[in-house]
Amino acid sequence: RFVGGSQRIALALAAELGEDVVRLGAPVRALAHRDDGVTARADRGVEVRARRAVVAIPPALAGRIAYDPPLPALRDQLTQRMPMGAVIKCHAVYPEPFWRADGLTGQAGSDTGPAKVIFDNSPPDGSPGVLLAFLEGRFARELGTWAAEDRRAAVLATLVRMFGPRAGEPEAFHEQAWAQEEYTRGCYGAYLPPGVWTSFGRALRPPIGPLHWAGAEYATVWNGYMDGAVRSGEAVAAAILQG
Ligand SMILES: Cc1cc2nc3c(=O)[nH]c(=O)nc-3n(C[C@H](O)[C@H](O)[C@H](O)COP(=O)(O)OP(=O)(O)OC[C@H]3O[C@@H](n4cnc5c(N)ncnc54)[C@H](O)[C@@H]3O)c2cc1C
Repeated sequence: RFVGGSQRIALALAAELGEDVVRLGAPVRALAHRDDGVTARADRGVEVRARRAVVAIPPALAGRIAYDPPLPALRDQLTQRMPMGAVIKCHAVYPEPFWRADGLTGQAGSDTGPAKVIFDNSPPDGSPGVLLAFLEGRFARELGTWAAEDRRAAVLATLVRMFGPRAGEPEAFHEQAWAQEEYTRGCYGAYLPPGVWTSFGRALRPPIGPLHWAGAEYATVWNGYMDGAVRSGEAVAAAILQG
């Protein structure tokens, strides 16, 4: 685990690069690509011209950028077929990690759910106590349509089953539905439904002219995870520098 949260990596990198390089609040909407370079058009009137572009977002989001000229059929059809998973991340916050006094780690798995994966997500000093519960797959899709208080009750019912009645009375409850996030649209990452890899997989990694692809979904090791995202970025950067 990252003390202080994994976002610290992105924040530290952004601080090092500076505001002239990292343009916040300017999502790329269009990429005009020619043999000799790329022009990226983003919100807030930001326009960047470069010899190459690395599109470092999941394939489903990459497919929503307007390309000029349009991408080859196989590549576009691949991005139509690599959906993001469905996960709602829930945090129940308690004055202390009471389960530890009962000899419990706070880590649990449930075959019935609705929260199927649970971790002790308390900060290193143990104050407050935090249980993290993931709603995944069909549970995220179904409970995602419920009223927030009903979803909270369902998650807490799982925690009470695991850790006893105190788990039912958190002092705070926070949830994050990742499929709602405009610039993520689901997690933990993209997946390949049956037949997609064999029929469309060869369009995943090859660059198209000056356009390159990177990110967790492109990794050959730890695909779909942070480790894989870093490996993919390093591999693409090395390929560009060599080319
Ligand atoms: C709840 C949750 C739990 C997870 N747990 C783990 C874990 O325990 N371990 C692990 O290794 N991984 C975990 N993951 C997966 C991990 O977060 C991803 O694998 C990783 O973030 C992928 O990195 P990336 O750089 O490929 O893409 P991202 O982190 O998705 O980065 C892409 C960036 O591009 C931005 N963006 C999107 N569209 C545009 C656009 N048009 N223009 C400009 N910018 C854009 C996005 O805002 C984002 O900042 C988890 C993910 C979630 C959601």
